[in-house]
Amino acid sequence: MTMIPKPSDRSALEQEQFLKILSREEALARFEAALFPRALPIEMRQLVAALGAALAEDITAPIDVPPFDRSNVDGFAVRSADLAAAGEGAPVRLTLNAEIIHCGTAPRMQVAAGTATPIATGGPLPRGADAVVMVEHTQPAGLDAIDVRRAVSPGQFVSYAGSDIARGEALLRAGTIIGSREIGMLAACGIAKVTVARKLRVAVISTGDELVQPGEALAPAEIYDTNGAIVAAAIDENGGEAIFLGAVPDDEAQLEAAMRRALEDADMLVLSGGTSKGAGDLSHRIIGRLGQPGIIAHGVALKPGKPLCLAVCDGKPVVILPGFPTSAMFTFHDMIVPVLRRMAGLPPRSDAKVGATVPVRIASELGRTEFVMVSLVEGKDGHLIAYPSGKGSGAITSFAQADGFLRIDALADQMPAGTETEVTLFTPHVRVPDLVIVGSHCTGLDLVTAQLAHAGLAVRSIAVGSIGGLAAAKRGECDLAPIHLFDDKSETYNTPYLVEGLELVPGWRRMQGIVFRKGDTRFEGLGAKEAVAAALADSACIMVNRNQGAGTRILIDRLLGGARPEGYWNQPRSHNAVAAAVAQHRADWGMTIAPVAHAAGLGFIPLAEEHYDFALVTARKDRPAVQAFLDALGSDEARAALERAGFRPA
Ligand code: AMP
Ligand code: MG
Repeated sequence: MTMIPKPSDRSALEQEQFLKILSREEALARFEAALFPRALPIEMRQLVAALGAALAEDITAPIDVPPFDRSNVDGFAVRSADLAAAGEGAPVRLTLNAEIIHCGTAPRMQVAAGTATPIATGGPLPRGADAVVMVEHTQPAGLDAIDVRRAVSPGQFVSYAGSDIARGEALLRAGTIIGSREIGMLAACGIAKVTVARKLRVAVISTGDELVQPGEALAPAEIYDTNGAIVAAAIDENGGEAIFLGAVPDDEAQLEAAMRRALEDADMLVLSGGTSKGAGDLSHRIIGRLGQPGIIAHGVALKPGKPLCLAVCDGKPVVILPGFPTSAMFTFHDMIVPVLRRMAGLPPRSDAKVGATVPVRIASELGRTEFVMVSLVEGKDGHLIAYPSGKGSGAITSFAQADGFLRIDALADQMPAGTETEVTLFTPHVRVPDLVIVGSHCTGLDLVTAQLAHAGLAVRSIAVGSIGGLAAAKRGECDLAPIHLFDDKSETYNTPYLVEGLELVPGWRRMQGIVFRKGDTRFEGLGAKEAVAAALADSACIMVNRNQGAGTRILIDRLLGGARPEGYWNQPRSHNAVAAAVAQHRADWGMTIAPVAHAAGLGFIPLAEEHYDFALVTARKDRPAVQAFLDALGSDEARAALERAGFRPA
């Protein structure tokens, strides 16, 4: 049930929200002030289970390591004074004592003057001996004596007790993250259990009537709960223990019950959704009843992520992340991870950063710190170029395809093209792709690049449209720019748009046509022109258009001949969105490409073939990955795959 406030409640509700937008720094400072200092939750763990945890106490070495004077080599324990005069021409004969000291054998006999005791690496030095001579530096003299032809200094090849770790020495400090080396030190001292910071238990709740868990079927108007999975994973990545409690509908009583239950057990509660202005904004009202001091910040000057809500309820942080997955992710990493790690006794996260240039102007909202996801490619001189890859705060794929993000200061209203900036990487290292494709996207492209990927080449494909791709190719920032640009004057595709330094590689043809729902008698059996005429004749018939600049849009406008039927201003940016609008009855017809229409189970009336080709940067033609792409494009395998998907290879 969605709670729509009565009009009388509404202005109060609106006032309650975003009463005061805080800067990112101010919000974080207030949040931390309300939470720290605080005691670290601790627990005892077995050594092997302590990997990755923060040590909660200083550890003092309880014993000497090694615990006794130890031989470092296989040889003979000797008295150095016996060998003071030994030399190449003056061997000294030593009588062997009647014992052999292996590792783990305690010596029984003293090494008296003129004697030696055979000793293995790791064996304890016997009483009387003060050095070890290597077996390689001796000759046997009968069964019970050796000759030594070089002098030894006292302490030679001996590790003294406590020389590695001395009893009473500070071994490890509280706060140290336990890795394999630390585990080694603790094991050497015989320590089997350590007190570490306990993993922070963080409850995760998604909110929204529309949410369905992955694995279940989607009903109309429902979406999969993305935030639950992302936030839980990000908590585990940062040393916490996520307790995912599923999605709760936008119902005040249910949500309050779930939040109270979560706080009984967890150290922290992270919700997502329900923070944007308007109906259904319940969580922050509930927080007011859960404990003191309650809400610290509601509305932070961050983009994405303005609706972030930070609260502390009786010592436990309660956070409401924005609903859009990328917004949820950014705010979580930027504002929550530092607090989570500090509460868990972990050091701040160290993210890798690189310098890069932005090739295009990025507009930004004044007054909000803005994070922009970017894909990195190598420019002409090997310098990194950062392409903004954001598809808006609702897009989850931008996260997976991006290499990192850049930050635009709250006081800037743009980042001009050519700015040298810092990119925070999502992974520890930059993965510079072998082949860079920038331009118009087509599902057919994946069928060709699949071969390269299987051969181990990293292909980066950045969708910026045909015109953007051409610009990138001219600047030498990509290998290939896929384009489908119709030239009205010459009535041809693509070739008229090429400039010096670029050459055309023919790709494939995509049949453009009218889509409609199968069985719609207004369109069934007609040609494209007649179908459009029939649609225009029926005032109840709604179309779906395409965005300005799309090749498809040019065809639609030609067909409409100046008419502006209902739905004309609905201008989605992709072939798939057109098919979805028709399939879901939001529109009755539109124009898309045949493979998309068929995949959506729609009727299709072919109109004209569009040429999807590649502008190849000539200077990059000899690169092995470019050659591999050209080979793949011409291969029987790719051609067959393209045909199966409904494309016609050129
Ligand atoms: P809200 O803040 O609840 O108004 O949500 C803003 C947008 O984010 C809406 O489009 C929601 O459907 C979407 N959203 C909210 N929670 C989730 C979630 N857990 N997974 C994916 N999308 C979500
Ligand atoms: Mg919601």
